[in-house]
Amino acid sequence: MDTLLERFLRYVTFHTRSDATNPACPSSEGQLIFARALQDEMQQMGLTRVTLDEHGYLTGCLPGNQPDAPAIGLIAHMDTADYEAEQVVPQLIEHYQGGDICLGKGDEVLAIRDYRFLKNYLGQDLITTDGTTLLGADDKAGIAEILSAIAHLQAHPEIPRGDVWVGFTPDEEIGRGADRFPLDRFPARWAYTVDGGELGELEYENFNAASANLRFVGNNVHPGTAKGSMINSQTLAARFHAAMPAEQTPECTDGYEGFFHLAQMSGTVEESTLHYIIRDFDDEHFAARKAEMQSRVAAMQAEYPKARIELTLTDSYRNMRSQIEPHMHIVELARAAMEAADVEPKIKPIRGGTDGARLSFMGLPCPNLFTGGHNFHGKHEFIPLQSMEKAVATLVELVRLTSAWRA
Ligand SMILES: [Zn+2]
Repeated sequence: MDTLLERFLRYVTFHTRSDATNPACPSSEGQLIFARALQDEMQQMGLTRVTLDEHGYLTGCLPGNQPDAPAIGLIAHMDTADYEAEQVVPQLIEHYQGGDICLGKGDEVLAIRDYRFLKNYLGQDLITTDGTTLLGADDKAGIAEILSAIAHLQAHPEIPRGDVWVGFTPDEEIGRGADRFPLDRFPARWAYTVDGGELGELEYENFNAASANLRFVGNNVHPGTAKGSMINSQTLAARFHAAMPAEQTPECTDGYEGFFHLAQMSGTVEESTLHYIIRDFDDEHFAARKAEMQSRVAAMQAEYPKARIELTLTDSYRNMRSQIEPHMHIVELARAAMEAADVEPKIKPIRGGTDGARLSFMGLPCPNLFTGGHNFHGKHEFIPLQSMEKAVATLVELVRLTSAWRA
C-alpha cells in the first residue's frame, strides 16, 4: 500500500492544468488520464460503486460499519491552476533547517524574507517545486489525503464510521467544478472540500461575487479637426476608474472587507471596456456595491450625453454561509476533528469562492478543510508533509466523530 508521500509525489506528475478557453468538460485531456488512474486505484483499494463519467467526475464509496450513521462526502479537485504544470519535478526537503530554500537547478529561491511562516516548519519535511512549475498541492494534496484517510479507515475497521463518499472533480480552477457534479450518485448528507491552505484552515464563508463589464462608446474623429466632436472613450473609461474608491481594492483590503477590482481594461478612441469583479461577504453590502456601480454609470452617462455607457452585471457565486448556518454541526464536527487530531482550528472567511459554495446552494452543504499547502498557483508552492499527515488524521477523526452524530 502506498504511503501518503508516495501517493502525492505520483499524483503531481500528472499534467492536469485546466483550460478556460476550452468549453469541453473536462477542459483538458490530462485530467481524464489522471481520473482513470485514480479510478484504478480506488477499485484496487476496494471502494464500492466507483464511477467515472465522461465529464471526468469520479466518485466512489467506503461503506460504513454503523448502519444509522450519516453518510458524508470528501471532495477534492484534479485540475491545477493556470500556471506552468508540465513535468512537475517535486523536491523533498527533509528536516528543514531554516533559511532560504533553493529550488532545483535554477536561481529560484523560497526566501524567508518573503515567506516568514517558513520558520514554523523547522525540522519538518517540505515538498517544493524545482522552480519551473507549480507543485499542484492545490489540490492533489487533497486527493492524496482523502485516499490515505480511506486506506487508514479500511485498515482500522474498529473505527466506527458511516458511509464515506469520495468525489474528485475536474475544472475547479476555471470555476466549473460544481457544474456537473453528480449529486444523484453521491448520497452524502453533507460534504467537505479538502482544498484549503495552511494547517488548521476551516472555512464556511466565502465572497459573494459578481462581474461588471462596462462599455464606453465614444466618437472617433481625425484629431486635427476633432474640436467639439471627438469623444474619446478611453478618457471616459479612465475618469470612471479614477473616481472609483481607491481604498476598496484587493491590494487595500483583507479579512471581511469587500472590494471592486479592475481586472482588465482595453480601448480605442471609439470604444473602451473595463472589466471589474465585485466581491463582498455581506449580502446587503454586496447588493449596495452593484447598485453603486449602476448609479456611477448613470451619473457619468448624464454628464456625457453624447457618449454611450453600458453596464452588464453578472452574478458569479454566493456566500455559502447562509446554507451552512442552519447545519452548524457540520462545522462543529470539523472543528472537533481537528482538535482530536491535535490541530488548532483556524476558522476564517475565504476571500474567493469554492466548489463547496456552489455545492452548498445545490443542496450539499460543503465547508472547506485545509490541505496544509502554501503559495498555491505558482512556482513557490510548497507543502509540509507533516501538515498533510495532520490532514489525514483530521479526516479520520471527522469520520469517527460523525459516526456518532444523530439529527
Ligand atoms: Zn484548489
